[in-house]
Amino acid sequence: MSQARLMDGTALARRIVEDAAKRAAALTDRSGAAPCLATVLVGEDPASVTYVRMKQNRCRRAGITSRHVALPAATTTEELVGTLEALSADPGVHGILLQHPVGEHIDERAAFEAIAPEKDVDGVTFASFATMSFGLPGFVSCTPGGIMRLLDEYDVDPAGKRAVVVGRSAILGKPAGMLLLARDATVTYCHSRTRDLSSVVREADIVVAAVGRPRLVRGQDIKPGAVVIDAGYNAGNVGDVDFDSAVERASLITPVPGGVGPMTIATLLEQTVDAAERQLRVA
Ligand code: NAP
Repeated sequence: MSQARLMDGTALARRIVEDAAKRAAALTDRSGAAPCLATVLVGEDPASVTYVRMKQNRCRRAGITSRHVALPAATTTEELVGTLEALSADPGVHGILLQHPVGEHIDERAAFEAIAPEKDVDGVTFASFATMSFGLPGFVSCTPGGIMRLLDEYDVDPAGKRAVVVGRSAILGKPAGMLLLARDATVTYCHSRTRDLSSVVREADIVVAAVGRPRLVRGQDIKPGAVVIDAGYNAGNVGDVDFDSAVERASLITPVPGGVGPMTIATLLEQTVDAAERQLRVA
């Protein structure tokens, strides 16, 4: 079998961001206000600091303003909830991103739920999970939403296909599976307690790896012709799929980097513009 075609997330993300930037500029012209994303960071975890800075830079380049709120690591759940409620009520803020993780002493769910659903551009609230699950309009979790856009871009229709999602985190695996289900895939979730992972993955027409374990999914586990989406990002630019062996069996595969990664920020920017258009009611 020939090698899989690569799913180019960098190129698709660039187009999505260009489109979001045009809409942001038009909105600024019409309303006098640029879309504004509030980023909230608790503590100074170096990776989180880098992610937030990257998101702010990308916002700026797309004509989206950002307002950064840096909170000390010792911030309590109540203080964080208060900050998020204030941003939710602030008409100058259209989208809110709480950088994850927030520290173990904080009730992360309580914090997420303090984000107003109409500003939940990162798709982390119960409200967003419900709309994703029911296939209704609303904000999607950014990485799973980006995955669905990649599938659409490469004409992969999930309807009727067996999809196996490895990982069930609230921000990635679980919503990815719900979005696939809403598009009529037959979805199986795998996780750390799954027995004989290989035999489950081998049945998949679409594999989504969202685990955080380098090269956990191997080529020999891939059904010939399957579509392989690797959301993993581990040290050394290594995904959760063993790319070199999987590329020999798959029909389509996302590279790491340059596959799912760029789609996450693109989805965040696009949803921030969506939110601003709705709130400024000039779309
Ligand atoms: P997470 O919260 O740590 O969740 C990992 C999931 O994998 C859990 O559901 C866990 O099962 C499952 N798991 C762990 N070991 C397993 C094993 N041996 N077999 C089967 N399942 C196993 O991670 P996450 O936040 O979802 O992130 C997953 C990966 O995606 C990471 O590499 C991360 O860097 C990457 N990521 C990328 C982006 C992006 O923008 N591209 C965004 C977010 C995350 P249990 O539930 O049973 O513990």
